[in-house]
Amino acid sequence: MSLPVQYPTASLKPRREESLQGGHLWIFSGALQQPPHWIEPGGLVDVKAANGQFVARGYYNPQTDIAIRILTRDREEAIDEVFFRDRVRRALALRQAFDPEQTSAYRLIHSEGDGLPGLIVDHYAGILVVQVHTRGMERLRSLLIDALRDETGARGILLRNDSQSRRREGLEVEEPLAVSGDVPERIIVRENGVRFLVDPWQGQKTGFFIDQRDKRAALRQYARDKRVLNCFSYTGGFSVYAALTDPGTRVTSVDVSAPALEMARENFSLNGLDPDRHEFLIADVFDYLAQARRDGSLFDVVILDPPAFARSQGARSQALKAYRRLNTLGMQVLQPGGILLTCSCSGVVHLDDLLGVLAQAAQHVQRPVQLLETCTHSLDHPINLAMPETGYLKAIFCRVG
Ligand code: SAH
Repeated sequence: MSLPVQYPTASLKPRREESLQGGHLWIFSGALQQPPHWIEPGGLVDVKAANGQFVARGYYNPQTDIAIRILTRDREEAIDEVFFRDRVRRALALRQAFDPEQTSAYRLIHSEGDGLPGLIVDHYAGILVVQVHTRGMERLRSLLIDALRDETGARGILLRNDSQSRRREGLEVEEPLAVSGDVPERIIVRENGVRFLVDPWQGQKTGFFIDQRDKRAALRQYARDKRVLNCFSYTGGFSVYAALTDPGTRVTSVDVSAPALEMARENFSLNGLDPDRHEFLIADVFDYLAQARRDGSLFDVVILDPPAFARSQGARSQALKAYRRLNTLGMQVLQPGGILLTCSCSGVVHLDDLLGVLAQAAQHVQRPVQLLETCTHSLDHPINLAMPETGYLKAIFCRVG
């Protein structure tokens, strides 16, 4: 018989186990009656209720407000290679929904949404790009990489631990590092049959904004033979989908990043489109829109997919102002009856906030707005029901009269 698994213990204040039983995966430091002793930051802990009963097992960081992130509620389950293999297999099973001939870019592990706090893994045509965001996951890194390699059969695994947010956890910001196989400078992926180049080493996030896949597909029904303005275009995700709908469609892509726009042009060519029939402008979107309004330029479809304006609660009200200004400007360059796709990926800005911003913008420009489709991310970014914060993307298609 094997010995029961045991780790250092942390005890909770009375009744603080209830949210964990409902599937929440965080314990804030204020909920602890007794922090664990003799444990290094990031070490594994057993969480006990005030009455001494086992509740869950996770990892501990004394430096952050979230003191413990839960990995399992099964007392018999050790946090070892078997654990990681099991979680990777579960994640893979969900992504079987994608036909690899059509879609070879998807998120394989969405952190708390897939029961693996502090971990993001994106899959690009057989290459995995991994981001480790917490001290606890960092300590488990080699078990994790082995499990990923063995369970997915990936050709290469790249660690992109270059996010500044790691500092909050007391972690170093590292250079990208290939930890298994070969990781090319560029990968060609498919998304709903559309081809894209991904730069896993230097591209933003892990290289591509996979979370917009279904919104790009939904855009098709509005873009046929239209003039489309794609603001914050990055490498042209929405632009290519729009341009492919009809030879008469004309797309203007605007972004501050010159390398992103260069890759956007390449993505047009990769799909048999002539980039010279479309526009690619290196500009600040706010400046561009203000100028377009002054020039009287009008579009049939406007896409606003900015970076997160608020990364913390404190930045929220400034961010709402920026969203308001952006959406007002976007409406001002829309033809009557035009389609606006507006997005926010700020976790602290909720759907209701974005709807409020839209309503204020509509009032400002004095035009009626019809909401057509409201979206979040799709099945490869599962949201943990007990943790609404595992969802961050809001996207609204509307018609501006
Ligand atoms: N819609 C894109 C993802 C957008 S990510 C897609 O589907 O792939 C946000 C983009 O906004 C980045 O490419 C970044 O370079 C750009 N960006 C950030 N601030 C900007 C600004 N003020 N003006 C123009 N582009 C900006």
